[in-house]
Amino acid sequence: MSSYDVIIIGSGPGGYVCAIRCAQLGLKVACVEGRETLGGTCLNVGCIPSKALLHASHQLHEAEHNFAKMGLKGKAPSVDWKQMLSYKDDVISGNTSGIEFLFKKNKIDWIKGWASIPEAGKVKVGDEVHEAKNIVIASGSEVATLPGVEIDEKTIVSSTGALELGKVPNKLVVIGAGVIGLELGSVYKRLGAEVKVIEFLDTITPGMDAEVSKSFQKLLKKQGLEFQLGAAVQGVDVKNNKAKVTYKLRKDDSEHTEDADVVLVATGRKPYTDGLGLEALGIAMEKRGQIKTDAHWATSVKGIYAIGDAITGPMLAHKAEDEGMAVAEVLAGQKGHVNYNVIPGVIYTHPEVASVGATEEQLKEAGRNYKVGKFSFMGNGRAKANFAADGFVKILADKDTDRILGAHIIGPMAGDLIHEICVAMEFGAAAEDLARTCHAHPTYSEAVREAALACGDGAIHS
Ligand SMILES: Cc1cc2nc3c(=O)[nH]c(=O)nc-3n(C[C@H](O)[C@H](O)[C@H](O)COP(=O)(O)OP(=O)(O)OC[C@H]3O[C@@H](n4cnc5c(N)ncnc54)[C@H](O)[C@@H]3O)c2cc1C
Repeated sequence: MSSYDVIIIGSGPGGYVCAIRCAQLGLKVACVEGRETLGGTCLNVGCIPSKALLHASHQLHEAEHNFAKMGLKGKAPSVDWKQMLSYKDDVISGNTSGIEFLFKKNKIDWIKGWASIPEAGKVKVGDEVHEAKNIVIASGSEVATLPGVEIDEKTIVSSTGALELGKVPNKLVVIGAGVIGLELGSVYKRLGAEVKVIEFLDTITPGMDAEVSKSFQKLLKKQGLEFQLGAAVQGVDVKNNKAKVTYKLRKDDSEHTEDADVVLVATGRKPYTDGLGLEALGIAMEKRGQIKTDAHWATSVKGIYAIGDAITGPMLAHKAEDEGMAVAEVLAGQKGHVNYNVIPGVIYTHPEVASVGATEEQLKEAGRNYKVGKFSFMGNGRAKANFAADGFVKILADKDTDRILGAHIIGPMAGDLIHEICVAMEFGAAAEDLARTCHAHPTYSEAVREAALACGDGAIHS
């Protein structure tokens, strides 16, 4: 029986980052992973492969729509789907083998197989039982299914199946207008598919700042994505590899159908804790299947912790990573901390959408006295030169103190630009702090500064 200071179950961004930080802090650590490769959902079937396909399909879009305008003549490239998938697979293996290298470098034992916890202090993998002073559950999440819609990963696919379709479908129906549905819908639209998104709510990207969400939907429509909002999917029938989606409009209960070659079910994810033996251990759970934890990620059973998608909070890789680092610090006797008010969210479509902190709706609801500083990318020289002037930066700041409360960006590189504001918020900065910081010209980040200026005496270029 091998024994460790910490055994981590799951090697996604939560688990592998936790393992590395534990090792860096001098703990003897092992990580159990049931998949063939390390990296969890994120590296194998999530963030990384989806971004590879978004990148490739965006290049095609640029060639088709913008090259000629810049004097780059010639036919736009045609799509070799097999090669695109193989590029995506290379990107995955480059990343997962990178984690394997980091495990070796940090002397972390990778225990291969599916783990269960027979009792606190013990982790069972196959026939072997390993001892650990502490156990961290980082078992992640799985696709949430929809009643009446049976995923076969061919005609009716989850995000995992959508990353390896046999061919680009002529018609794709996406159920759910959240981040994953819109990112993958964009990929297939750019590759030539007709794409229709069916969403239960009356807006896309629920929870997003409403102004940004509206603008985002307009831009996606301009790109050719179709939307049916306020529609409850009743079921999907598959005959001869063709699907028929039946949905009811919530406003009048009328029933409609939509034919498709492929249906992508993108209605969310749920925590994955199967086979761990949590019930027998008596670990307290939340109503929606997450493991209950306290402010230091401890579960109700001493010596067992949980992080990432398996607990409450946004299901995001970087949230899992931050929790992984923080819990490692707690286990090493330090003070781990995650600031849940400053966790950015990004949608990697084109344009990108990024947000951090409060939305305008949340501030209104909380009765906060706030001001809005907005700046359109139309006033940003770099964005205009790069055919990327759609969108804006919106900063929300306290009206009395000028402290930044939230920011929402739709536009080029929004997912990178948002971090300037995250850092500012971590330091409790005022909008004026950003406005008085010299920003290099010509950069997209000047739009952030202009939005900050708009919180004060006014933006210069609007
Ligand atoms: C298509 C898609 C795109 C996404 N894009 C983004 C994005 O751009 N940015 C972002 O922040 N997030 C994105 N996400 C979400 C992100 O992938 C998750 O939030 C993140 O992976 C959660 O990390 P985790 O460590 O909690 O769990 P996971 O990454 O799910 O890893 C958990 C691991 O634990 C293993 N495991 C589970 N149970 C056991 C067991 N009993 N024994 C051994 N191993 C076990 C699993 O095999 C898995 O490998 C995306 C998700 C999807 C599906």
